[in-house]
Amino acid sequence: MFYYSSRNKNIKTSSSDAILRGIAPDGGLYLPENFDEAKVCLEKIIEMTSNEISAEILSKFFTDFSYDEIKDIVNSAYNGTFKAQDLAPLSKVGDKFVLELYHGPTCAFKDVALSVLPRLITAAKKKKGITEETVILTATSGDTGSAAAHGFSDVPGTKIIVFYPAHGTSAVQEKQMTACPGKNVFVSSVDGNFDDAQSGVKKIFAECKMPEGTALSSANSINIGRLVPQIAYYFTAYRDLVKAGEIKLYDKVDFVVPTGNFGDILAGYFAEKIGLPVGKLVCASNENKVLTEFFETGRYNKLRKFKITRSPSMDILISSNLERLISLTYGTDKNAEYMKTLFEKGEYTIPENELSALTDKFAAGCCNDEQTLDTIGKVFREHNYLMDTHTAVAWNVSEKLASTENKTVILSTASPYKFSGSVLKALGKAVSGNEFEMIKTLHELTEAPIPESLADLDKAENLHNDKIAKEDMQDYVLSRAEAK
Ligand SMILES: *Cc1c(COP(=O)(O)O)cnc(C)c1O
Repeated sequence: MFYYSSRNKNIKTSSSDAILRGIAPDGGLYLPENFDEAKVCLEKIIEMTSNEISAEILSKFFTDFSYDEIKDIVNSAYNGTFKAQDLAPLSKVGDKFVLELYHGPTCAFKDVALSVLPRLITAAKKKKGITEETVILTATSGDTGSAAAHGFSDVPGTKIIVFYPAHGTSAVQEKQMTACPGKNVFVSSVDGNFDDAQSGVKKIFAECKMPEGTALSSANSINIGRLVPQIAYYFTAYRDLVKAGEIKLYDKVDFVVPTGNFGDILAGYFAEKIGLPVGKLVCASNENKVLTEFFETGRYNKLRKFKITRSPSMDILISSNLERLISLTYGTDKNAEYMKTLFEKGEYTIPENELSALTDKFAAGCCNDEQTLDTIGKVFREHNYLMDTHTAVAWNVSEKLASTENKTVILSTASPYKFSGSVLKALGKAVSGNEFEMIKTLHELTEAPIPESLADLDKAENLHNDKIAKEDMQDYVLSRAEAK
């Protein structure tokens, strides 16, 4: 399988190169050239374990690697790190199904892909005979940094450096980072806000000359190596529905996805392209509803006020991965034009008569914080099922856009205990104490099981205590890159 730039069909490369580069030389995102080469046999897939499904799909997309190499990557990524019987258990809640993607080390769905990507990078380097050490550098407001630190922890040939704003993350997120084990993990707070940390990282990528034998890289969500591992759980959900007798093989299923950067939902689109029977893919947004407006009107407009919501991992105005869908639907040339317009004017518009090419498959809706909390409370009262704020956005939207003919699967992207304060408020409980106390209060109130990694987190030892000024980020990177 070859990969081409979403902005230019002639810029092509191999799968291992696409993984190592992350972004195409013209600024586009890599797309697989031929989905038919990755077609799976549905009858066979539904008889597989989730690890086997992941290996099957990854090996069809990343053909530089043998099936056995991929199998080893999947097993070392998931065995022992995901605390569920299966990668992503499917729960029946009322007449809907909730796909729990949060049983990994940091209790959010980014673990699924960030457990695999580091191992793909190491394997790709080996393929290409690259011996340099890969130094992954990331600035985080919480979720991505902790998932990346855990994903890269002790992966040979890599180091991971995470910068987070000193007062910009939740206490749980901070602890997940500072307690992350691994000889190759370096975590430091930066005296400033998220933008300071982010600009510092951008500057280092642009200017910093790395020590010999090391090379900088990023783990951001546009890497094709982060997208493809997410396809698997759409199939495990389908398998589980068939096995439970809820659907017949080849029946279509709707998926409702809480969306930020459009990576998770795009993986569902890729799943359909390789043979999954999908009805609608429903894109659910919070009050930062750029995508809802886009699918309704064709106009993508990022020039608006950024809102901080109770589903912070979806507080995004530029959904990078949408570019891949635009390119697949309208072609690379048109996509290149739209992206140029977006960059120059902050918006672009798909003509109304061309929009059905997208809305045949995608629907979109949004809800505000109040509706999000109401949904958590209602679902808990009616079904005794507890969900987090991101999942609740999807649940709320699924009720507005429910189709009657297909079964609905809601993707649940975080443990409710990661957002205990909001969830307690949703249940009508006064919010007091620190976040770790709130976890206990929420447990006493609901009796929902606390994920192992959160239960004892407050007692975990701080392994990283670095605190630096924003001016010192580059020195920090250089010294950690040189450390043996
Ligand atoms: C990152 C994230 C999302 C958004 O996923 P995208 O792939 O960026 O659309 C939703 N929920 C949670 C909890 C997340 O961490």
